[in-house]
Amino acid sequence: MAFLFNSDAERAKIFAAAFARELPSLPFITDAASVDPETVKYLITWTAPADLARYRNLEILFSIGAGVDQFPLATLPEKVKLVRMVEDGIARMMQEYVTLGVLALHRDLPGYIEQQRAEKWTARPVRQAPDRRVGVLGLGNLGLAVLERLRPFGFPLSGWSRSPRAVEGVACHHGMDQLPEFLAAIDILVCLLPLTSETHGILNADLFKALPQGAGLVHAGRGQQLDAAALIDALDSGHLSGAVLDVTDPEPLPAEHALWRHPRIILTPHIASATQPETAAQTVITNIRRHEAGLDPIGLVDRSRGY
Ligand code: NAP
Repeated sequence: MAFLFNSDAERAKIFAAAFARELPSLPFITDAASVDPETVKYLITWTAPADLARYRNLEILFSIGAGVDQFPLATLPEKVKLVRMVEDGIARMMQEYVTLGVLALHRDLPGYIEQQRAEKWTARPVRQAPDRRVGVLGLGNLGLAVLERLRPFGFPLSGWSRSPRAVEGVACHHGMDQLPEFLAAIDILVCLLPLTSETHGILNADLFKALPQGAGLVHAGRGQQLDAAALIDALDSGHLSGAVLDVTDPEPLPAEHALWRHPRIILTPHIASATQPETAAQTVITNIRRHEAGLDPIGLVDRSRGY
């Protein structure tokens, strides 16, 4: 039985070396055409292959990334375990990106970029960190990592999840019932939710209205969670003060889209974070060992929740 690797050649080299060292008896295959699908026990990929049904003995489908919304959850055979990527490299990069976004809004970088274009040398009002409340939608692997990195700046921190969570130094809220009270006490909102039927379109006009006047948004979840027109309205009306967006719908963002040009938006092309092969290979190897010992892999997706 084999491990089939379906991602870029650079990552393949690093994974192959780790597998040769740690799981030498498991054949490591990078060319799907060279293997009988029935011999594939483990597959790592970003999207499911069109002929997935031929992989009759597949036991684990590993996502090469943190999200699994690109997989057809409803049609994936029940016996196949779907595992999202939980590894330190993704978390570290996301900590950097969200810190960058939060600090950019906290210190009004969009305003200074506009002023630079207008050759205007003027100090803008500064608010101190203890007066800037930062809230994170999603208290999973990435949301928790980001909160940890933001803590030393002294922002009052809060978070929102589906089920109750307790995180030291973070005011935790959960469920739709507690969403309004969470939003009402936030100056910078960070979205790190997985894309599911419940989170699709969650960053909409109602949610923006529930944020205090002058709040900002850092969105590094998924593009389909954001109603871009509602965000632009909220920025144009002055209710929101700025946004840092890493994800859009669609991607790439089409030419002439209003998000490209809005003066209060800083836009990046879905680069907040990416799987780092050295640490990811270790995670996958650990998960294979766990699976073979009868344990659930880390990052096992609960199909009923969709993440
Ligand atoms: P995770 O560990 O599965 O955590 C997801 C969190 O979201 C959990 O706290 C969960 O609540 C919460 N959640 C899910 N559905 C919810 C709902 N309906 N209401 C309230 N809370 C809900 O995921 P992760 O590893 O942190 O990754 C999060 C997402 O980040 C990924 O799915 C992906 O979309 C995005 N991402 C983006 C990039 C990028 O480069 N832009 C890179 C990597 C990942 P519970 O704690 O109650 O389960």
